[in-house]
Amino acid sequence: MNAVLFDIDGTLLDMRGVGRQSFVRALESTFGFKDDLPYINFAGNTDLNVLQQVMAHHGRKLSEDDCTRFHEQLPLELAAASHKAELILYPGVRDLLEKLSATPGLILGLVTGNVEACAWIKLQQFNLHNHFVLGAFGDEHADRNNIAALALERVRTRLKPGQALDACFLVGDTPNDIAAAHSIGAVSVAVATGKFTTEALKAAGADVVLPDLSDVPCVMELFTSS
Ligand SMILES: [Mg+2]
Repeated sequence: MNAVLFDIDGTLLDMRGVGRQSFVRALESTFGFKDDLPYINFAGNTDLNVLQQVMAHHGRKLSEDDCTRFHEQLPLELAAASHKAELILYPGVRDLLEKLSATPGLILGLVTGNVEACAWIKLQQFNLHNHFVLGAFGDEHADRNNIAALALERVRTRLKPGQALDACFLVGDTPNDIAAAHSIGAVSVAVATGKFTTEALKAAGADVVLPDLSDVPCVMELFTSS
């Protein structure tokens, strides 16, 4: 069996700032303060880590109850804003996910910094949510490496007795995705559809760097090799 784990933002699609906007609104509706987050870099980050950064910036303690309330509010804001925005699905993504999910011997999953409900909302905008059988999410851990480790654990629970995991690929658009891939022993496949160039992704140590996912036959061959 092979597993292919995908990041979402910058890798499969572009929410055109709706993610950041929803985060700002959720902060205001949950905690009552307005902050446009100019000091936050969302690329390769995780929602929980961003929330921790914001609360530290404001000198506020973050309780478990705060986290829960925020993680409940964020998807509401995202769902409300998503359908009004002109979102972008990157070239090749739909075709690739359709082919991958129809290929025997492949487990398709998510490794994302998004809160779980937000991850599914983003994929639902393009009707891509049914292609993934598992995921690990940004409300489970602040550190992307830990999220990747959770996803790998979930991949292993999908294996039948005697079945081996031959190869695991982690596809992402930032150096943090590359680091997360390597932290779990996965092949890091980096795409330059996000904020990082192919050169920057190579320099960050990606095993494979692609401009985007549009060369579907080539990407399929990679993910079905072991
Ligand atoms: Mg990303």
